[in-house]
Amino acid sequence: MSNSNFLPMPDDNGFFGEYGGQQLPPELKAIMDGINDAYLEIKDTDDFKNELADLLTHFVGRPSPVYHAKNLSEKCGGAQIYLKREDLNHTGAHKINHCLGEALLAKHMGKTKVLAETGAGQHGVALATACSLVGIKCEVHMGEVDIEKEHPNVIRMKILGADLIPVSRGTRTLKDAVDSAFEAYLQDPVNSLYAIGSVVGPHPFPMMVRDFQSIVGTEARAQFLEMEDVLPDYLIACVGGGSNAIGLFTAFLDDDNVQMIGVEPSGKGLDTPDHAATMSKGSPGVIHGFSCYLLQDSEGEPLPVYSIASGLDYPGVGPQHCYLKDIERVQYESATDKECLDAFMDLSLHEGIIPALESAHAVAHAMKLAATLDKDKRILINLSGRGDKDIDFVAKRLNLE
Ligand SMILES: *Cc1c(COP(=O)(O)O)cnc(C)c1O
Repeated sequence: MSNSNFLPMPDDNGFFGEYGGQQLPPELKAIMDGINDAYLEIKDTDDFKNELADLLTHFVGRPSPVYHAKNLSEKCGGAQIYLKREDLNHTGAHKINHCLGEALLAKHMGKTKVLAETGAGQHGVALATACSLVGIKCEVHMGEVDIEKEHPNVIRMKILGADLIPVSRGTRTLKDAVDSAFEAYLQDPVNSLYAIGSVVGPHPFPMMVRDFQSIVGTEARAQFLEMEDVLPDYLIACVGGGSNAIGLFTAFLDDDNVQMIGVEPSGKGLDTPDHAATMSKGSPGVIHGFSCYLLQDSEGEPLPVYSIASGLDYPGVGPQHCYLKDIERVQYESATDKECLDAFMDLSLHEGIIPALESAHAVAHAMKLAATLDKDKRILINLSGRGDKDIDFVAKRLNLE
């Protein structure tokens, strides 16, 4: 496979093949084009690059280690399993990588405020963290139902100085929070920047967030070569919007012998309505200003989705993933709630690492695959986050109390 499949990607209009773009009214398109121009102008300047690199090292704690999970590999009885430890980042997940990028970009663009929506609060907390560090105001819109459910994250955001805007319209959850935050943004796009939480939304966000996350794969590729003298045979990552997965995959896209697998949540089963397996069950459509595979009804409205891991329940998916699926560079699989919980416990019991429920989907598929492979094969998982946020839920679900 030649470079030309991936570079330049996306094209000037923000398309990855037929996916992505800016499915927006002209005035919004103009705002997004302004962000794109500013990003392209700023991203390669020494000021911006050095400031971001310095914060990633000294604030986030990068590089995160690659760890050979020998006990888990032994238990599976096949391939060797390795973990890229994004769970060890400050704030406990990969999201800080792009939130710092977005907050710094806002500062370099002369903005005074960053705006976002949050569902379970993970994006809100990472962004509030980045904003307090960078010294810029942060406004997070969150549905009242989610505020009720996610109390610790609500408090974290407040302690970090973010303005939390409760959203009382509609179902009072993520989708309504997106609408509310976007409306607030449109009232003052000159002084504020909207910070999207994954590789989704209109161009340039899928490109920008990918660029900020690609440090994960760049580090992992060099670390793996240093440790093992060869590249991994497989990369595995969970896919909600797809930012941690594309962050790991990007540096390896031209390595033909490295197979890549994205793992979506099949929840209570692909034959039930309770899943968020966009690639397996969706069809091309439009959501939040871009085109992608989408779980949609006959009118093109997004369907309600479900996952045990709130970071994975999005009915769309990043446009670059859709393209990578169509050209068969990346394979998309799924893991059920049950498989996810089993993997959550296995990694905790055998390695002393409590994974986020999101990341446990990737671990679940890796364990299944490892058992079918020879012992000299190597699988690298992106362990996107730690599971502290999930322990109460798991305790209840598994009757551990
Ligand atoms: C938000 C989140 C995800 C899902 O987002 P992607 O954009 O698909 O990476 C995965 N893992 C963790 C720990 C998260 O917080």
